[in-house]
Amino acid sequence: MRDPGDVTAVDVLIVGAGFAGIGMGIQLARRSRESFVIIEQAGDVGGTWRDNRYPGVSCDIPSHLYSFSFRPNPGWSRVFAEGREIHDYLRTCVREEGLEEHLLLNCALSEAEWNGDDARWLVRTTRGDFSAASLVIATGRLAEPKIPPIKNLGGFGGRWWHSARWNAKVSLVGKRVGLAGTGASAIQILPRLAAEASEVVVFQRSAPYILPRGDREYSREEMERFAADPGTVTALRDELFAEAERGIGARQRRHPDIDLLRQRALDHLTTSVPDQGLRRQQTPDYEIGCKRILFSDDYYAALQLGHVRLEPSPLDRIADHCGNHTAVAASGNSYELDVLVLATGFNSTRPSIAGHIRGRQSRLLADEWSNGMAAHASTSVHGFPNMYVLDGPNAALGHNSAIYMIETQVGYALSALDHLAASGADALDVTAEAVRSYMRDIDTMAQDTVWVQGGCTSWYRDERTGRVTLLWPDSATSFRDRLATFVPASYEHLRRPGSPLC
Ligand code: NAP
Repeated sequence: MRDPGDVTAVDVLIVGAGFAGIGMGIQLARRSRESFVIIEQAGDVGGTWRDNRYPGVSCDIPSHLYSFSFRPNPGWSRVFAEGREIHDYLRTCVREEGLEEHLLLNCALSEAEWNGDDARWLVRTTRGDFSAASLVIATGRLAEPKIPPIKNLGGFGGRWWHSARWNAKVSLVGKRVGLAGTGASAIQILPRLAAEASEVVVFQRSAPYILPRGDREYSREEMERFAADPGTVTALRDELFAEAERGIGARQRRHPDIDLLRQRALDHLTTSVPDQGLRRQQTPDYEIGCKRILFSDDYYAALQLGHVRLEPSPLDRIADHCGNHTAVAASGNSYELDVLVLATGFNSTRPSIAGHIRGRQSRLLADEWSNGMAAHASTSVHGFPNMYVLDGPNAALGHNSAIYMIETQVGYALSALDHLAASGADALDVTAEAVRSYMRDIDTMAQDTVWVQGGCTSWYRDERTGRVTLLWPDSATSFRDRLATFVPASYEHLRRPGSPLC
């Protein structure tokens, strides 16, 4: 039993046990050089795949690509696995890679502060204090549900919840349900919702571009082949990667790539929605790729069911007075509802954990990021020595697998650990100029892309400054090339006061 006053010393402390934290943990466990702990505030691992339990949840990146390259899974049951199967995959990774002994569940970070005197992070958590030489932030960008400013939401007389906090205890059978949002989550939810509810209203702020999904189960023969010959899984993964990677041309507004992609989506709309009026409402008013392109073979069909209505304006308010069931759209149209589902996305650009991390001179990460998230190599923040942010600033993709990006960043963080060990320094602090220069490159890369020129708002950009702070605005391959070499000159090498110069 630990004394509450004890401080546990580790080489590396990882915050978060989603894909990024688990990926980092696996690599640390496999190389057996550093002691480490993974703290996770929830009672289970899995990150977004633990949290998102809505009906129909699945991944729109093929599973043989959306998984660790160093932990292929020949047993994926279908091209696009459901959320539960991905969650099981992550749990299996934790178990089979021996991460359980490093894992502390129900352990939330309260505060982390850099101490220059001993060149370590003091990390206070709900399960005790840690002293860590290095800190890895792997809290993800899809962790904090975003509730839009819907007036009088608290006065809603029915039940409401966010898509990532699904309330499975409430049956939707025969209910009048409102669904706010038309993003990746909403389009997966609607078909399942429509199968149970008596009436559904979809509140649409922007029409999405949707491409056919083409999901299917893998046959037993295919799975047997994958298991018997790992080379076939690698070959499939490479093929899926190359195919996804070709999508960058359209995002960079190259012709004919973008025209062909736009036409594919509009053809899918035309063949799926015969009614001209609905088709007009479903035609986006911005360039394809500006927001995430969605994949579905059943969303448009669900939208055309007799008991499903499209409200082509955002949900604005719940009519005044407590216990009211009337949801009012910005258009003024109102709907009587029993249940309201907010598939309205996540607070991604301003993560709340930044308000709990203090670097050199006790500077708060949230203050360092007051103009939006910024990091050198999408990973290192000036003034926060020996800290590596995975899946944070400029590390998301709009066209390929997030797992490839995570693996790239894990490799970079390991190179930094190796360099630190070899250098004799106690800590590495990326220089302000290295961050600024990286940000200039990001802005230049983003300048002519659909994300900046496409005429839309999206969570890829900081909502206050408009800068592309979430997304890596280029190919996945270029991200890997950029992070392949750890450049020591980008870092100030720090020593503890009084530590020997050698
Ligand atoms: P999202 O993409 O941010 O979509 C939120 C939706 O809510 C948008 O359509 C937004 O409209 C809408 N909205 C906001 N306020 C509204 C209001 N008052 N009334 C009506 N609509 C409103 O969130 P998400 O769908 O949860 O997806 C977030 C990210 O999670 C995705 O981009 C993706 O990276 C990931 N995801 C992936 C999968 C997958 O299959 N891989 C599945 C689900 C989620 P605007 O577009 O106008 O802002």
